Amino acid sequence: MTEGPDAAVAALRAGQLVILPTETVYGLAADAGNADAVARIFEAKGRPRFNPLIAHIADVGAAGAIAVFDDAARKLATAFWPGPLTIVAPVRPGDRVCDLARAGLDSVAVRVPGHPLARALLRAFGGPVVAPSANRSGRPSPTTFADAVEETGASAAAALDGGPCSVGVESTVVSVLGGRVALLRPGAVTRDQIEALVGPLETSDHGHRSPGRLTTHYAPDAPVRIDALDGPRPGEILLGFGPGVGEARWSLSVSGDPREAAANLFRLLREADREHPAGIAVASVPMAGLGEAINDRLRRAAGFVG
Ligand code: AMP
Ligand code: MG
Repeated sequence: MTEGPDAAVAALRAGQLVILPTETVYGLAADAGNADAVARIFEAKGRPRFNPLIAHIADVGAAGAIAVFDDAARKLATAFWPGPLTIVAPVRPGDRVCDLARAGLDSVAVRVPGHPLARALLRAFGGPVVAPSANRSGRPSPTTFADAVEETGASAAAALDGGPCSVGVESTVVSVLGGRVALLRPGAVTRDQIEALVGPLETSDHGHRSPGRLTTHYAPDAPVRIDALDGPRPGEILLGFGPGVGEARWSLSVSGDPREAAANLFRLLREADREHPAGIAVASVPMAGLGEAINDRLRRAAGFVG
C-alpha cells in the first residue's frame, strides 16, 4: 500500500481501492463507474449483500451528470455542500455510477464531501467515487487513519491520511423522490436544518432500502448498554457524557457538547472494545441536534431496532 494523492488517483484509475479521509468517517473508495472495482469493495468489507453506495463528487456542478435534481435537492445542495449531507435522487441514465454501486435501483445517492483531501482527490480523478465506511461489515466506522488501515488497509492499493475525522458519524441521508423529501439516516446535518429549508420531512422512507438501518450495524464486540443512568456495572467501561459522568478518558464529551461526542463516538467504542470489557455502558445523550444521529448509532451498536 502506498500513501499520497498521485498514487491514490492512479489506483482509482486502475480499478483498485483507496482509503479516503472525509469529514464524516474514513471511506474505502473506488471508481463508481467500474463494476469490478465496486465489487472489490463489497468483498473487502465482507458485506453480506449488495447495498447501494454513495457517489462522492468534487462539486455541485458534477451532480447534474449523474442525478436529476428537483428544487428541494438544489436547495439542499446549495445550503449544505460541501458537507455531511447525502442526497438520494433519480439517477440520470448513463454508466458513471454503475448498477452494482446503486444496487440496481433507479436512484443514486450523491455527496460533495468537505474534507480538503477528499475534494482534491475527486478533482484530480475527475469522476464520481463510491466510498462506504472503511470498516469490515457490521463494525464501527473508522474515524482515524490508523483504524481505517487496521480494518481494510490490506485491501487498499493506496491510503490518504487526513487526520481524525471532524464530524465522526456518517452523513445525513435524505431522499428527494417523487416530490417528497424523507430522512433516511440522521447525521450531522440535522432534521431541523433540513426542515427549515424544505418544509416538514416525510416520516416514512416510502420503502426505500437504507441498509445503514440494519439493526446491528456499527457494533463493537463487547455488548453495548445505552442510557446507563446507574453508572458502570462490574467489568463495564462507562462512556460518559457531560461534567462529572465517569472518567474523563472515557468521556464522549466532558462538557456535554454533542458535536464533540459525535467526533469521539466510534473511536471510543473501538478503544473500549480493545480492553475486552464485560460490556460498554454509555451515558444518556440528549436527542437535540446531533443527538439524534448519536442515539441512532448507539441504538444500533446496542442491537436495538431504531
Ligand atoms: P454508507 O456508504 O455505508 O455510509 O451507506 C450509504 C447509505 O446511503 C446507506 O444507508 C444506503 O442505504 C443509502 N443509500 C445509498 N444509495 C441509496 C439509494 N439509491 N436509495 C436509498 N438509500 C440509498
Ligand atoms: Mg458504514
